[in-house]
Amino acid sequence: MKKEYDYLIVGAGLYGSVCARQLTEAGKKVLIIDKRDHIGGNCYTEKIENINVQKYGAHIFHTSNEKVWNFVNKFIKFNNYKHAVIANYKDKIFSLPFNMWTFNQLWGVNTPEEAVKKIEEQKIKIDNPKNLEEQALSSVGSDIYEKLIKGYTEKQWMKDCRDLPVFILKRLPIRLTFDNNYFFDKYQGMPENGYTEFFEKLLIGSDVKLSEDYFNNRDYYNDVAENIIYTGPIDKFYDYRFGDLEYRPLKFDTQILDKENYQGWSVVNYTDKEIPYTRIIEHKHFNNDVSPKTVISIEYPIEWDRSQEPYYPINDDKNQEIYNKYKELSKQEKNIFFGGRLAEYKYYDMHQVIESALDFCEKI
Ligand code: FAD
Repeated sequence: MKKEYDYLIVGAGLYGSVCARQLTEAGKKVLIIDKRDHIGGNCYTEKIENINVQKYGAHIFHTSNEKVWNFVNKFIKFNNYKHAVIANYKDKIFSLPFNMWTFNQLWGVNTPEEAVKKIEEQKIKIDNPKNLEEQALSSVGSDIYEKLIKGYTEKQWMKDCRDLPVFILKRLPIRLTFDNNYFFDKYQGMPENGYTEFFEKLLIGSDVKLSEDYFNNRDYYNDVAENIIYTGPIDKFYDYRFGDLEYRPLKFDTQILDKENYQGWSVVNYTDKEIPYTRIIEHKHFNNDVSPKTVISIEYPIEWDRSQEPYYPINDDKNQEIYNKYKELSKQEKNIFFGGRLAEYKYYDMHQVIESALDFCEKI
């Protein structure tokens, strides 16, 4: 007998919701559930004091993929926000990512030639850097490392930089221009009305159940649909039989302040080790939201355990090995598909999740 739904989607985040849109458009009957009491996964935005507040941290949309950009623009409008970050080290302000403004603030240099000379003087020759500290000292030198990398990274990973692998730092670019735009992508912006509107539109035509944990009613949900798309943590799906996958979790302390403008920009990183948080987000600056008040989120790194929200996968060798075992097992499933950041244990930006979900739906 045919089951009630063609697809059950576990997780109303980006991967699940894009799949829901594509499948309902193709005439499939879809039920989507989420254990949280809202749609949107980590992209969820709520209005507080007329400000779009991103509950799970700052999400800046950026892509060079035409297909993905055209897809999102069918549903929502983006503003022209360009992401840049300010660093605060012992009450001195620096521009990030490292660019000519940063070098000017650090050393008073005005030209790329002077900046290169200064960096070269500071660099320490290390042939095969074995940890993050060695990598930083050999590629950007001591001032940048001490003031802008060390404290922030040690807080973020809760480890000494000498105990952190080199690969974490490889992503840091050095720019010899006065360009502090964080991304090189062709398209960038923030949704004018927040991300939640996007999800509401994606989910038109699907049945949606919130505050529903798949694992609390697994037999029922396994039987309700012909196919399952699972976007939760893959280790949990297999009852952790090969061990736990680790994540870097965060705690957000969100406050409404009785002032119009707190820090003058959307994201300020605190790179000094003594300050316990890594960054403060002031939400109104993403959209120029007008309000006599402001809302800030202070971001604290915390220790990982199963009770925490899984945010950033830690794709080191140890975790990758565990994930590969789960992946092999998942290949044996006939009508269960795994997708998204948690089920694929992969650091995906939003545009990559959308692309992956669109590709998957095309395939099936
Ligand atoms: P999720 O959004 O995590 O959705 C998975 C959903 O599954 C969740 O809603 C969860 O509640 C649900 N779920 C899990 N288990 C169950 C269960 N058992 N039963 C029911 N439901 C379940 N990307 C960018 O492009 N730009 C950025 O600036 C950016 N900033 C980020 C900042 C932070 C702090 C984080 C953590 C991520 C950031 N990202 C950013 C990445 C972006 O959040 C992800 O690419 C995207 O949200 C992943 O979507 P997803 O559907 O795979 O996962």
